[in-house]
Amino acid sequence: MLPSDFSQRFDQLCPPELYDQARRSFDQPRAVTFRVNTLRDGHENVIERLQAQGVSCEPVEWSHSLGLHAWQVEASQREALTYSAEAESGDIYIQSLSSMLAPWLLQPKPQDWVLDLAAAPGGKTILLAQMMGNEGRISAVEPVKNRFFRLRANLERMGVDNTQCYMKDGRAIGSIKPDTFDRIMLDAPCSSESRFKTYDASSVEHWSLRKVAECSKKQKRLIQSAFDALKPGGVLMYCTCSFSPEENEVVVSQLLKKRPAQLLPIELPDSINNVSLGITEWQGKALHPDCQHSVRVWPSEQMDGFYLALLHKPLA
Ligand code: SAM
Repeated sequence: MLPSDFSQRFDQLCPPELYDQARRSFDQPRAVTFRVNTLRDGHENVIERLQAQGVSCEPVEWSHSLGLHAWQVEASQREALTYSAEAESGDIYIQSLSSMLAPWLLQPKPQDWVLDLAAAPGGKTILLAQMMGNEGRISAVEPVKNRFFRLRANLERMGVDNTQCYMKDGRAIGSIKPDTFDRIMLDAPCSSESRFKTYDASSVEHWSLRKVAECSKKQKRLIQSAFDALKPGGVLMYCTCSFSPEENEVVVSQLLKKRPAQLLPIELPDSINNVSLGITEWQGKALHPDCQHSVRVWPSEQMDGFYLALLHKPLA
């Protein structure tokens, strides 16, 4: 069962044409997707090696034209994939397709200094490093001790060597390192609503409207810190895996009111059609009209729900 407050809000937010597929997605396990890790020499023939073990991999067509090299396997093969030698060695990285879009939209360049402000377990850091060809510099921040060590171990296993990890609270970075980074990824800690499954009570038990409000408070401070740490001319990706406007457009809207941030339009491949524009009003209150440039990805058989906002800091 989904929490009733959540259900009611979801029904209000989800566009009618995407509603049936989105609601169904809470009742069934999704196909598992992964990326080939081109940072490791061993990645060649990885798909053939998996197929030879009976793991049948289908290419995610649109991801190959974006350079993301994603593949999918049926949900029933999740264990075989997760415990394969290829996943353990780091030749592949299991990651949702929605998660891959955030680094892809940020478009880091090999010469950039990139900040990943909420980094563990490191899926987006690894893709950023891959897009940068392991050049430039990434600073990855994670304050929770066990998650910090998991992040470091994952980066090492995946062959990332342009990244330094810091066990710090992201809310402090804006004042410690103002106007510093070319690009910033803020995959904010959130109430994780897109992970809900009706057959798994543990996926919903942490959730409440109070939890959403607590997350929103922290996210507002994190996004301001991130924006302050951004170089003029730099770009910030703010994303969550929640549907609640308080964690998404409300956070972005508040930043647009407090800082000279600009929202950049987001362009996704035509084949990703389970999306809608960000909302500009919630519970009778107007949000910043530019929130319509952010994007809501609705859950489908292939993709998790996600929220994506790309922000720019103008040159002074
Ligand atoms: N970007 C990661 C990835 O793709 O693998 C997932 C990040 S997860 C959604 C959010 C992370 O933010 C968690 O690891 C959490 O511990 C961390 N976090 C919580 N509070 C934080 C804070 N004050 N500053 C920075 N990170 C924080």
